[in-house]
Amino acid sequence: MIWAYKPKGHFTVNNSYKVAISITQTSGLAETSHDSEQSRFWRKLWDLHVPNKTKLFAWRACKNILPTKANLYHRGVIDDPTCEACALAPETVGHLFWDCTITKEVWNLSDIPLDKNGLHHRDFMDFLWHLIFKQHVDTKLVELVIIMAWSVWLSQNNAHLGKACQSPLETTLRARSLLHEYQLAHTRPTQLKEAMDGRWVPPTFPWYKVNVDAAVFSHLGVTGIGVIIRDHFGSVIAALSKRLPLPLAPLEAEAKALDEATVFA
Ligand SMILES: [Zn+2]
Repeated sequence: MIWAYKPKGHFTVNNSYKVAISITQTSGLAETSHDSEQSRFWRKLWDLHVPNKTKLFAWRACKNILPTKANLYHRGVIDDPTCEACALAPETVGHLFWDCTITKEVWNLSDIPLDKNGLHHRDFMDFLWHLIFKQHVDTKLVELVIIMAWSVWLSQNNAHLGKACQSPLETTLRARSLLHEYQLAHTRPTQLKEAMDGRWVPPTFPWYKVNVDAAVFSHLGVTGIGVIIRDHFGSVIAALSKRLPLPLAPLEAEAKALDEATVFA
């Protein structure tokens, strides 16, 4: 592949991200149509709390400039555009991220409440547009969709390179793991501030948060333990209250509470 935005034609993620930003800013959309849905769409994409490489992937998918087999076929690079995952249709962006039977399995496993009622998304922008402006899904879900689609794309790329195909479950787990690791490493300052203020902060979807506490009643020779598990809405998923006939010291009691919580979770 020759990348036109570098003198030597070498593609780098960093450079392409800068190009993507500059194209969006200089296209006039961001400056002249602040209130337009298209402007909001791109702003929403760039503001997502996901790795830059996955934002860039989403932008390329929306612009239909990913080297899908259908695009490579139209450019005369390959002779056969058939999707390697299902072998049932040409590998267009619409097929790859919506119609392909393997991708459908990924969406099912992801538990993302997608509107599947007879819809066909011809391209990736249609798909995201529908989620954001028609279904009005939470930003966290848009982030999950982008990561899942990126993981599907990675699996397909591996297949193009002759590597073993990943199962839909592996594709789903890799996406969730990447998103979780990224969001843990890039916790927003407001969330940190809330945590330092002592206010409870809900976990990000689809994770649960476990909180524990212990109380020592030394005059009775018992320790009380409480465990509560909540989801991203703050709804209680499970709770445990236990009285242990053990006169523990405060630190031991906290350790015991953590131990009980781990078993309970
Ligand atoms: Zn397919």
